[in-house]
Amino acid sequence: MKKPQPKTKSSLKSFGILIITALVISSFIAFNQVKQYKTKEVSLSEFHQHIKKAQIDGNKIQIEGDKISYILTNTDRIYTFKEPNSQLNDILTSSQINNLNVKVKPTSNFWYEFLFTIVPFLLIAGFFVFMFRQAQSNNNQAMSFGKSRARLHDQNKKSALFKDVAGADEAKEELVEVVDFLKNPKKYLAMGAKIPKGILLIGAPGTGKTLLARAVAGEAKVPFYSISGSEFVEMFVGVGASRVRDLFKEAKASAPCIIFIDEIDAVGRKRGAGLGGGHDEREQTLNQILTEMDGFETDTNVIVMAATNRADVLDSALLRPGRFDRRVIVDKPNIIQREAILKVHSQNKPTNKDIDLMVIARQTPGFSGADLENLVNEAAIIAAKKGQTSITQHNLEISVEKVTIGLEKKSRKLSDNELKITAYHEVGHAVIGHKLPDCDPVNKISIISRGQALGVTWFLPENDSHLYPQSKFESEICSLLGGYCAEEIFFNQVTTGASSDLERATEIARNMVTRYGMSKLGPVIFGDKDQEVFIGKDLGHYKNYSETYAAKIDDLIKEIIHSAYEKTKKMITEHKKIITTIAEDLLKKETINRKEFLAYFSN
Ligand code: ADP
Ligand code: MG
Ligand code: ZN
Repeated sequence: MKKPQPKTKSSLKSFGILIITALVISSFIAFNQVKQYKTKEVSLSEFHQHIKKAQIDGNKIQIEGDKISYILTNTDRIYTFKEPNSQLNDILTSSQINNLNVKVKPTSNFWYEFLFTIVPFLLIAGFFVFMFRQAQSNNNQAMSFGKSRARLHDQNKKSALFKDVAGADEAKEELVEVVDFLKNPKKYLAMGAKIPKGILLIGAPGTGKTLLARAVAGEAKVPFYSISGSEFVEMFVGVGASRVRDLFKEAKASAPCIIFIDEIDAVGRKRGAGLGGGHDEREQTLNQILTEMDGFETDTNVIVMAATNRADVLDSALLRPGRFDRRVIVDKPNIIQREAILKVHSQNKPTNKDIDLMVIARQTPGFSGADLENLVNEAAIIAAKKGQTSITQHNLEISVEKVTIGLEKKSRKLSDNELKITAYHEVGHAVIGHKLPDCDPVNKISIISRGQALGVTWFLPENDSHLYPQSKFESEICSLLGGYCAEEIFFNQVTTGASSDLERATEIARNMVTRYGMSKLGPVIFGDKDQEVFIGKDLGHYKNYSETYAAKIDDLIKEIIHSAYEKTKKMITEHKKIITTIAEDLLKKETINRKEFLAYFSN
């Protein structure tokens, strides 16, 4: 990539040279002056004395402005100053001396002239040249706005390979094909097959889309131009499109290569919709991408890869055949893939022999590759802080807790009463969750504050699940209400501690009614799946049901919560004894792990 080299550097240099020259000259002058005046100063009356006593070498008296310099017969060099307006002649006359040969020297010599006229001029001229050049280079920068900002990854630099991407097996399988297209295009062209132009990677943030795209380039050993969608849409209207043009031109020149447009949803959203300004610009940019992709000859070996986590908001024109017709879904990793990712990221770190990454993988459902990388990094930080030589399993487990439920806040001191309420509240959650079907097993209960929470009950699924039955939601609501009911039954009143539980329970109930068809309203969806306006759908249209239904929905939500509440209250009353035992133990121990918890129910 050729980039306009700002000229600031060279002009700075010449400006510097100018200044140094000026300094040399003036110091030379100063030195000259010093040499000239390395003599003794005397008062005017002493001068008179010298004249009177005829001690002055007659030919060696000079006047330079008000300065009178002379040399004595004993070769001493002397100078003095007369009053500004008086004439030396007057002084001499008054002393009745006229046999002296007075030489009047002009006040300014060549160096003076140079210093006071030429040097300032040079400095000013230099300054102007400097400013001019500066302005010009700024201008150059302004002119390069339309240039593509794509970064060409240095192929000599260590690039990503497929082996750096753990898990993501299906995605890799599809992309192996792409690598082959780039390496042996002839094989496919001979068959009359069209090489796909666009590949869209779809997946949640942090699942490794960018990494996969880099790995394709690394495997195929081709140049990799990467630009993010938001970089197209920057400040100046019209440059998005011209950047696209520039980028494709450059890429075609260095084919075979990969153009990678990250976060393409920034430019590729559905056209003709949306809020706020700037979408004209986006449309132009998008149109330009489409035009460029259509303009590819079949043998132009440029493959456009794009990544997004929101394929649902993309313009359908982007998705039609001949454009981003290949879609590669990058899923969140399952337990085995999580273990593999953890392995990749702990490889280059010193780890203790005892570490069991499978245990960590089990504790991290729903984590993306980036989350797992972060987890290992946190563990490494914890280990380093403690001055250990390697990362232990315990470090990893603390790190899991830190990222899932927040770090323990030992400094927050609760009163005895608060601790007691918290203990019963948490055990309420745990016991209800344990007793009901479909609830995830209890992994840990703790009354040590973490983040906002005073205590936590940590449920952990045994397997990654993909389908959630209605009963699971119902059980979950009960377990969430377990804390509230326990407070009510054991302390005869509720506290603010249950507020976020209630919020979550209500949210689940609302989803059951409006999104999952799990209520008397039947299999109807109420409201848009995405109620966010920014995705480009019309504002104010998201409530696509009538007021009558709004009221019905509210009633049903209330019904769900209420029946769960009755059920939970009954259960808490039934299990009062065991809840008391566990809560009192929890108060002493502060945390109860899964094994200890299960032991209470074993007999
Ligand atoms: P995305 O582009 O999907 O948001 P990235 O590709 O930027 O995610 O992933 C962020 C980081 O997470 C990567 O640099 C990598 O270190 C890590 N990562 C994500 N997925 C994986 C994976 N499958 N294997 C190994 N590392 C991964
Ligand atoms: Mg990315
Ligand atoms: Zn709670």
